[in-house]
Amino acid sequence: MLPELQLDDIIRLRKPHPCGSYEWRVVRLGADIGLECLVCGRRVLLSRRELAHRLKKVVLSNDASTRQS
Ligand SMILES: [Zn+2]
Repeated sequence: MLPELQLDDIIRLRKPHPCGSYEWRVVRLGADIGLECLVCGRRVLLSRRELAHRLKKVVLSNDASTRQS
């Protein structure tokens, strides 16, 4: 199940990007989620289902309500 995401949230995926980074910034929210690699700046689009499968954790949430959970 995908947690509630906000734009600019920083998330960590289970597998590293080829550049070596595990961390991504949320740049688009919709039916698909847009992520930007924090190291190389590459952008990808993942479906919510795919992201739920790959997501390890939300490192930094911009939404106070999700920070408490
Ligand atoms: Zn990268």
